[in-house]
Amino acid sequence: MRKYVIMGVQGSGKGTQSQMLAADLDIVHISVGDIFRWNVQNHTKMGAQVRRVMAAGELVGDDLVESVVRDRLTGHDWNFGFIIDGFPRNCRQAEFFVESYDIDGVIALELPDSEVRRRVLNRRLCAGCGINYNLIDSTPGVPGRCDACGGELVAREDDTEEALAVRLRDYHEKTNPVLDLFRRKEYVISVDARPPAEAVQVEIRWRLGLPPYRAPQAQPEESRSA
Ligand code: ADP
Ligand code: ZN
Repeated sequence: MRKYVIMGVQGSGKGTQSQMLAADLDIVHISVGDIFRWNVQNHTKMGAQVRRVMAAGELVGDDLVESVVRDRLTGHDWNFGFIIDGFPRNCRQAEFFVESYDIDGVIALELPDSEVRRRVLNRRLCAGCGINYNLIDSTPGVPGRCDACGGELVAREDDTEEALAVRLRDYHEKTNPVLDLFRRKEYVISVDARPPAEAVQVEIRWRLGLPPYRAPQAQPEESRSA
């Protein structure tokens, strides 16, 4: 059983790295931001509660966040473990978490703020299938359209200059102290998030003593549409 937390500023690649790790180790990837975005897109009650807060780049209230995390962790079978992304974001959330779960490792992705702005403001998301693109080095074949499903590429509502400034400020003020707390109590590995995603993944595996990363095999053409 492996239980990891992944932390890092906006655009540092928490989601990408978590998915690569989760797919290969058969652990569950829990993204608190994705859970909230799903609720907003599907017009749930919770979605209505968090929509404005998220769009402004502010943090959702601790009680709601904690109940989402608790529900997700009690409701899901994670026989082989989990990697949680976007939580904890402040010291109160961290205390709740450390009391309830033993963490095997905390992955801290490090990225300078100048690079954060460049990545986040150029990030696009497929409205159809959710794949991430950026207008720097993973541009789609047809501008504005997803290569996989043809869906429209849109910016996240909170990927604006204004909301990003709020998110970055909160990260440095509220989330960095959590890392200090984890550094004292837990096992934190700091990883440079500037290299390409696969190189970052190789480094994470090596630092955590996990089996090395193997790039997924390209699927043969005929089985792709299955
Ligand atoms: P990012 O890390 O790029 O800010 P996320 O997808 O992790 O994006 O989160 C998006 C938004 O969801 C946050 O700006 C915040 O409003 C809300 N959110 C996610 N996780 C938490 C959390 N642990 N505590 C409070 N709010 C959260
Ligand atoms: Zn798509």
